[in-house]
Amino acid sequence: MRKGTIVENLRAVRERIVTCCEACGRDPGGVQLLAVSKTRPAGDLRAAFDAGQRCFGENYLQEALEKQGQLADLAIEWHFIGPLQSNKTRAVAERFDWMHSVDRLKIAQRLSAQRPRGRPPLNICLQVNIDGEQSKSGVLPDGLPALAAAVAALPGLVLRGLMAIPAPRHPEAQREPFEQLAQLLAQLRTELPGQPLDTLSMGMSGDLEAAIGSGATMVRVGTDIFGTRD
Ligand SMILES: *Cc1c(COP(=O)(O)O)cnc(C)c1O
Repeated sequence: MRKGTIVENLRAVRERIVTCCEACGRDPGGVQLLAVSKTRPAGDLRAAFDAGQRCFGENYLQEALEKQGQLADLAIEWHFIGPLQSNKTRAVAERFDWMHSVDRLKIAQRLSAQRPRGRPPLNICLQVNIDGEQSKSGVLPDGLPALAAAVAALPGLVLRGLMAIPAPRHPEAQREPFEQLAQLLAQLRTELPGQPLDTLSMGMSGDLEAAIGSGATMVRVGTDIFGTRD
C-alpha cells in the first residue's frame, strides 16, 4: 500500500483508540497498538515504523522470518500471534519478543527450553477459546487455571496475560466475550500473584472499541492500517 496511506491509516487508528479511551475514562497510554502485518511486504512495515509504530504482529513463521531479515536495521518489537506447530517453536523462542497464541503446555515447555540464555524471558499470552468453538485454537476457560499455573513455573517465559479472538457478533454483543476474558485474567491474578498478568490482548479492526471498553491493554489491528488482505 502507498506509504502515505499507511501513515494516514495509522493516525486514524491511534485517534480511534484515544477517542475511545476518553469516552470510557481510560488513559490512552494503557492501550498499546500492535500492527498486524501478516501478508504485507517489508516496505509496508517500514512505512509504519517511520510513522512511529514499533510493535508488529505476524502469523506465519516463514514469512515473519523473511521480513525480520529485511528489517534487521529497525528496532522492532516482534509479536507472534498465529497458530504454531510444536516443531517450529525454536525460531519463535529465538527471534520474537512476545508470543500471544500459547494454548498448550507442550508449546510453552519448548519455548521456555529454547529461549536463549541472556535474553529476557519470552512474554507469553495464553490464547483462550472464549466462545468454546469447535476446531478453534485456544485453551477452553475450564482448562485455563491449570495451564496458566504450569506456564508460570517455566523459567524462560513470563506470563503477561490472555488473548482471544471471539466469534463474530452483533455490535451490541461484542463486549460479552471481552468482559469474560477480563474476568478470567482477574481470577488468574488472585491465583498467581508472582506473575505480571498485566495484558489483555483483544480487539481487532472491527471490534477494538468494544475491547477497549472492556479493558484491552493491547489491540491487534491489521486491515485498518494496511488495507484488506487478499
Ligand atoms: C489477522 C489478525 C488480526 C488483525 O485482524 P484485522 O481484522 O485485520 O484487524 C488480529 N489478531 C490475529 C490473531 C490475527 O490473526
